[in-house]
This record gives sequence, structure tokens and C-alpha cells, in this order.
Amino acid sequence: MTFIPCCFKRQLILTVFIGGLIIEIISDIKKMREWSDNVRLKEQRIGFVPTMGFLHEGHLSLIREAQRYSEKVVLSIFVNPTQFGPSEDFSKYPRNLQRDLEMVEKENVNIVFTPGHEKLYPKGYQTYVQLESLPNHLCGISRPTHFRGVATIVTKLFNIVNPHIAVFGQKDYQQVAVIKQMVEDLNFDIKIIASPTIRESDGLAMSSRNTYLSPEQRLSSTSLYQSLKKTQALIKEGIKDVNTLIDNAKKIILNFSETSIDYIKICDIQTLEDMININQPVLMALAVKVGKTRLIDNMVLYP
Ligand code: AMP
Repeated sequence: MTFIPCCFKRQLILTVFIGGLIIEIISDIKKMREWSDNVRLKEQRIGFVPTMGFLHEGHLSLIREAQRYSEKVVLSIFVNPTQFGPSEDFSKYPRNLQRDLEMVEKENVNIVFTPGHEKLYPKGYQTYVQLESLPNHLCGISRPTHFRGVATIVTKLFNIVNPHIAVFGQKDYQQVAVIKQMVEDLNFDIKIIASPTIRESDGLAMSSRNTYLSPEQRLSSTSLYQSLKKTQALIKEGIKDVNTLIDNAKKIILNFSETSIDYIKICDIQTLEDMININQPVLMALAVKVGKTRLIDNMVLYP
């Protein structure tokens, strides 16, 4: 891979030639806007995939989905401090831009947008986007400021990148629900696409945080998917009582070493309110700590 700086004014735009493809890296907000304005002038659609980097196949699947709907694709990489709680893993979150660029090499991404913290949250920053009820469920209970951070950064990125469509992973089901609601409430003219969860061969949902797991913890991490699959099987057998299903899932997970449960919920697929019985498709969502690593997963279950 060769880095060839182009318009190299404080790294505003960096052109990278990888295997004959050109990826532009933009870190400057104004340059990002200019690029989008130019693409829109040509009446081309912009697809946007926001990420925190340390990419894996899950992220690449979102890029491919974005390409189905748009002529140009922007991938952003920004580890957003406002969505991490004070005792969470912001400082140790994995970061490696060179590795990420190598991963997007074959994906025909047009722009990798890497804005700086100091530009997105300058001194004196004070505006946040807060939804009223969706964040009061699931992950929002143990991470009370998380969705405020997510809604805020996505709003800011939407305003800068100005995409026609944006793709998010179903793996973060509540995040997609929050973004869809926010887009509707705030009248963003952006189509939100939810893309399926990409898993390892043993069912573990891919996540940048999986790199934290020791080999033994990696084995325990399969318990999340196992519990989801088992619950779906029990529902098919006719068990409809949510408490029975959740107790069963708990047993599966706690049977593995170093696991502790943050939550296991069976809830309405739209409002995320708890269900009592299963007479319609429901969302089963769970957050489990394996050692110190908090993993999440979910599945829509059908009666
Ligand atoms: P992150 O970098 O973890 O903030 O994730 C960026 C985007 O990738 C979000 O829309 C996630 O939902 C999505 N994503 C993360 N993991 C997966 C996965 N295993 N399958 C599909 N999408 C994913």
C-alpha cells in the first residue's frame, strides 16, 4: 500500500492507492461537505456507513449494502467519546487505521472520513440529541448516556456527509431503532437501512470488542447465540411464557465460565417494551459480560 498525499494541507485530504484503487481519506469537515456537494451536483447518490473502526466482516457487509443503493460510498471511522460511559472502554477501544484501510481495499469505498475529536467536539461544545423513550430500555438502562451520544454523533455526521442513505447493523438493534426514530422526528431526508448481523462460524456476532476475549472467554461468548437459538426452538415447540424462556436462556449462559448477565429481554420489536406472552414476532435481546467484555446480541423470534 502506498500513501500519496494530495492537497496535503494539514492532512485535509489524503489519497491512498491500494492495489490500483483510489481511496480518499478526508479528515476535514469542510472538505467532506465540499466532496458531498460535488457528488450531489452530479446527481449521484451517497451511501454512508458510520463506524468506530477496527473493521470486520460485519462492517464490510454494510459497505456492500450501501453500494446496492448508491453510486458513492462514504465510510466514517470515529471512536465517539460521548457514547461511552465514564467507566467504559473508550481509551482502550481498538484503533488501527492502516489495518482498516487494508480491509476496505477491495470494497470500492470512495471516501474514508476520519474527523478529529477536537473538530467534532471543540471546547465549549454543548448540544446533544436525546430521544424520550426508546433509550429507556435494554442497553439504555445500564448505559444511560449511550444513546444520547449515538444520536448526537449520527446527527453531526449526517449533517456533514449529507448522505441519501445510511446503513446500520441489526446487531445493534436498539441503535437502529433510535436512529430510525430520530430521522423521522428530525425530518432528515435520509433512508435508513438495517443490515443483518454477520456471525463467526460458531454463531458469535462479529464485534470489534471480540478482540478483548481470551481463548476461554471466546468459548463462553458462544453462549449468547446458543441461548437465542434455543429460545427460538422452544417457542416453536409451543412455549410462550416469556419468564420460562428467559430463565432457560439464563441457565444456558451461566453454564459457561466468566459469564454474567446484564439483561435478557423479550420485547416488542418496535417499542422495545417487555412482552409477557409470545403471540407475534418479538425481539429477544441480551447483553452479557464475559470477563470484563460486554457483548450484545439479538434475534427476532417468531411464534
Ligand atoms: P461499530 O464500529 O461497532 O460502531 O459499528 C458500526 C456499524 O457496524 C453499526 O451500524 C453496527 O451495528 C454495525 N455492525 C457491528 N457489528 C456487526 C455485525 N456483526 N454484523 C453487521 N453489522 C455490524
